[in-house]
Amino acid sequence: MAQKRDYYEVLGVSQNAGADEIKKAYRKKAIEYHPDKNPGNKEAEEKFKEAAEAYDVLSTPEKRQRYDQFGHAGLGGSGGGQSYGFSVDDIFSHFGDIFGGHFAGAQFSGGQFGSMFGNFGSQQEVNYGSDIRIRIKLDLKEIAHGVEKKIKVKKEIVCSACNGSGAKDRNSVSTCPHCRGNGQVTQVVSTMLGRMQTTTVCPKCHGAGKVITTPCPACSGRGTQVGEEEVSFKIPAGVTEGMQLTLPGKGNAARHGGQNGDLLVVVEEERSEIFVRDANNLIYNLFVNFVDAALGAEVEVPTVDGKVKIAIKAGTQPGTILRLKGKGLPTVNRLGVGDLLVYVNAWVPKQLDKEEQKILAKLRQSPNFAPNPDSNDRNFMDRLRRAFQ
Ligand SMILES: [Zn+2]
Ligand SMILES: [Zn+2]
Repeated sequence: MAQKRDYYEVLGVSQNAGADEIKKAYRKKAIEYHPDKNPGNKEAEEKFKEAAEAYDVLSTPEKRQRYDQFGHAGLGGSGGGQSYGFSVDDIFSHFGDIFGGHFAGAQFSGGQFGSMFGNFGSQQEVNYGSDIRIRIKLDLKEIAHGVEKKIKVKKEIVCSACNGSGAKDRNSVSTCPHCRGNGQVTQVVSTMLGRMQTTTVCPKCHGAGKVITTPCPACSGRGTQVGEEEVSFKIPAGVTEGMQLTLPGKGNAARHGGQNGDLLVVVEEERSEIFVRDANNLIYNLFVNFVDAALGAEVEVPTVDGKVKIAIKAGTQPGTILRLKGKGLPTVNRLGVGDLLVYVNAWVPKQLDKEEQKILAKLRQSPNFAPNPDSNDRNFMDRLRRAFQ
């Protein structure tokens, strides 16, 4: 699959589009690319899925915010071509209601869209697995370039003995006696307005129409067991403490083959011994020998990608801030890169031997050693402010 398209572009709406506009735009696309209208047309099916995926994200405020902030990467995909994993079935089970009367009903029952969720319009209850939240610690180098992580997650997985059914074997399932396999129960109630008939999901089988007679011994009938899954994902460059990525379907498995929860990955920034982070800028506190500050020197400073040499001009005052353009961190949406701000301190020796004392005592008398700041030197706060703009 090619690079993923922008969701706003997919639906043909602007970034400020409201919920109604998005819904309308999706409806239009869904009708246009509907599989029934385009039988056997793979391209239309892809477009149909693409529109549903875009709608899913843009119609969910939390997902939309993450998408606006991080792009596709914020939603757990790698940002390049990785499918979100919608099937045509999912689309009907999730967004069936948006089609209203137009596509409702038997049109999608069974047939090519027969679904694990039950047919569109039916009432089978879906089990959902719970979400898992994990924290991941990143150092500045990983934040500067983005990183691919592979971790083992302890979680509920589908029971390998029963494949999630919860039944011991094929013969351990029988038709639900309560609803006689219909999955629904109909009650007739007498009211002042006459007899009313209501149909509800069968409380015994929750709509499945079947009940387990002998539960799977490995999972006691739950259909899930405690296990481990290796999950790999990409963290985009420029993330900050507390940001959260969502990996859909990578959370706990649901009972009886329902829908998995999500894995939420929360970013934690490892404290750097070397730099202080200020948004996308990095600050480095450099100490230079005060003789070097007076005579000028070439000194090494660290960056997230190793050391670089910078020139200290003769007569550099402590408090000077040198800006190394582009040596900071990128913004998470890749719109810019911060700088490395080198804060220059002049190191004054704490110990001197007799000889050194003699030399310095002589220099003390020199008029050049008397402080004589100009307005530029005095305006330290102003320089500081400019450095952080
Ligand atoms: Zn089992
Ligand atoms: Zn039943």
